[in-house]
Amino acid sequence: MKHYGEYKNLFSKLYKESQIQLDAKMSEHIYFKVGGPVDILLTPNSIQQVKETITICKENNIPFYVIGNGSNILVKDGGIRGVVIKLCELNKIECIGNKVIAECGALLKDVSKAATEGSLAGVQFACGIPGSVGGAVFMNAGAYDGEISFVIESAEVLDDNQEIRIIPKAELNLGYRQSIVMQKGYIVLRATFNLVNGDKEKIQARVDELTKRREERQPLEYPSAGSTFKRPEGYFAGKLIEDAGLKGFTIGGACVSAKHAGFVINYNNGTAKDVLGVICHVKDEVKKQFGVDLYPEVRIWGED
Ligand SMILES: Cc1cc2nc3c(=O)[nH]c(=O)nc-3n(C[C@H](O)[C@H](O)[C@H](O)COP(=O)(O)OP(=O)(O)OC[C@H]3O[C@@H](n4cnc5c(N)ncnc54)[C@H](O)[C@@H]3O)c2cc1C
Repeated sequence: MKHYGEYKNLFSKLYKESQIQLDAKMSEHIYFKVGGPVDILLTPNSIQQVKETITICKENNIPFYVIGNGSNILVKDGGIRGVVIKLCELNKIECIGNKVIAECGALLKDVSKAATEGSLAGVQFACGIPGSVGGAVFMNAGAYDGEISFVIESAEVLDDNQEIRIIPKAELNLGYRQSIVMQKGYIVLRATFNLVNGDKEKIQARVDELTKRREERQPLEYPSAGSTFKRPEGYFAGKLIEDAGLKGFTIGGACVSAKHAGFVINYNNGTAKDVLGVICHVKDEVKKQFGVDLYPEVRIWGED
């Protein structure tokens, strides 16, 4: 049952009309471009607003979800009952000495750009990851031999008691696609990255090289969530899927990319059901042919 009228009353004292969307189509907020509506989507523009929103949700037993840039989420066709808190307005980035301090909603490409402009090296691996700082810390995003754990100094979070805390890197439990943020349900508010001084031209050249590699190898022209599956130990998901003969495997408007078998793409107005159908078939076939379990990296939310 949808609850948006009731929820609107709870949040209208805290938010301006323009920050509240009722029955918001999640397909417009996630990279996959599928999924039904959420009861209410809120776009806070301050840390205080985030904190108060969580308090209201917890006091009223309202399920809530936070999103950064929506590049690693699949919402089912029945949508989400509850509240989605979209953090894109919290996007300030500051360079101080060899540190970059970025709010949770800042995009990784903008963090990489700010670092490059300041001749700071270390975070360029992330220039083509289409996520936000919060989403990247949540899953310790990584690419091309770099990952968040190599460069983060600390993260400021809202913990499960709604206290704001600074967690140093050593306590963030960053591992392959995991963090304390994921384990404990914290919300990342800000992160500090510790970078090294470098040569601006060389740093820019690295960004250009990585961008070219992505464009050549990944189906960036279609909606997706990047690599659909986590890397199983000792294997590469994309290679297993290709070897299973699944490149191009299609259900409705979703398929396994012919360019990169690790990506399930929404190539022609697919639904979440189509995408999930492809994911299930790939999982089953890879298990049947190679005895390897694949687990989705993408977060799957909502109702059928
Ligand atoms: C074309 C493409 C290429 C990609 N390439 C890569 C790659 O090379 N490497 C890689 O690691 N990933 C890659 N991804 C996946 C994705 O970009 C990353 O996982 C990214 O870190 C997700 O960030 P986001 O802001 O979009 O998170 P969202 O998709 O918005 O959210 C993902 C999860 O993070 C949580 N989250 C978001 N913000 C916060 C916050 N502030 N506090 C707590 N939790 C939060 C959400 O609740 C959700 O559970 C790719 C995706 C696409 C579409």
